Amino acid sequence: MADLLAAQPIDADDAAPVRAQARVNVAAIERNCARLRTELRRGAELCAVVKADGYGHGAVQSARAALAGGASWLAVASGSEVRELRQAGLRGVRILVMGALSVVELEEALAAGADVVVWNERYLQAVADAGGGRVHVKLDSGMGRLGTRDAAEASRVARAARESPGIELAGVMTHFATADDLSDTSFFARQLGAFKSWAATVKAEQPELLVHAANSAAVLRDAEAQFDMVRCGIAIYGMDPFGKDPAARALEPALELSSYVAEVRLCEAGESAGYGRQFVAEQDTRIAVVPIGYGDGWRRGLSNNADVLIGGHRHPLVGTVSMDSITVDLGADARAERLRGKRAILIGLQGSERITAEEVARRLETINYEITCALTSRVPRVYHRDGAVIGEPAAR
Ligand SMILES: *Cc1c(COP(=O)(O)O)cnc(C)c1O
Repeated sequence: MADLLAAQPIDADDAAPVRAQARVNVAAIERNCARLRTELRRGAELCAVVKADGYGHGAVQSARAALAGGASWLAVASGSEVRELRQAGLRGVRILVMGALSVVELEEALAAGADVVVWNERYLQAVADAGGGRVHVKLDSGMGRLGTRDAAEASRVARAARESPGIELAGVMTHFATADDLSDTSFFARQLGAFKSWAATVKAEQPELLVHAANSAAVLRDAEAQFDMVRCGIAIYGMDPFGKDPAARALEPALELSSYVAEVRLCEAGESAGYGRQFVAEQDTRIAVVPIGYGDGWRRGLSNNADVLIGGHRHPLVGTVSMDSITVDLGADARAERLRGKRAILIGLQGSERITAEEVARRLETINYEITCALTSRVPRVYHRDGAVIGEPAAR
């Protein structure tokens, strides 16, 4: 605590404290894409997955950054996600809609010139009925969700797609169930083997066909899984698909989540902070009130279960996470009063300290994906390029 004061100059923008915001470094997304491309074989394309509003980072800005970083395709999960990208002016780029689509979404996706995924003749007919377009046939090699398990059916659908007027067979694909689990090798290998042999037969009939299977984890674990294109989401945002420290794989987290110290108050021994009195001070201490809560996506499961960086140091989040605020224990030193107005980092760097989405995920017993996706529309996304702000907070 003695160096509380020494640490204060770390905060550059104390002058104008801002409530919960997510600062997204588009240059980091660009570099992560460039970094992923170094893993790729010659000719393999990078498809940037920007579904779920770019994993919470903002779909449009993430897409632009990924394309600048060398991605040549985009992928989303729903009809409205395609529309958002097209309306933002991303017109010349191929977009793959990977999810199951209702008839309305299918029409929306095809009208927007997106590629869609099919796996049976009924679905192929729905594409034809919706006006036709480009399709990718999905083999379920073990994920057990979309796609057909039956390689013969997949081949039949591929042939039917090629022969249907108005429909173009653009690709074949699968999705791995265990790529992110490095302790599993046999199931991953089985999926890869099943897809590889089937894809080879379809590709033999149509050499320009785009064959794709790998998500971020698969790219980083096995070059054999790359085929003609890889579909990377989590890694382009600088998060680690294996839940480890992203730095170990030279990935750079693009998102910083911060708020500020709105109030510092003395909490005397025996007094409590927050709903349900889940924190009771054992000794006199200073409590910071930081305006961010589960209404912002800072989940209630982080009650008494997270650290916050303030003044260049880690401090424990104490008590219950409220909808709009949290309380943080600054310790007994009365000089903590001077931290009022300072920036509070929930995900990101401050001084020599760092909190990753992976750390937060571990505390919640979930995955990093869910941490950034959980950030709500109340949290403005502010875009910058290595510190240079590139626009006003997006209206959301
Ligand atoms: C979301 C998704 C991806 C991207 O996965 P990451 O683990 O984020 O790289 C790839 N393919 C499909 C089918 C997906 O749904």
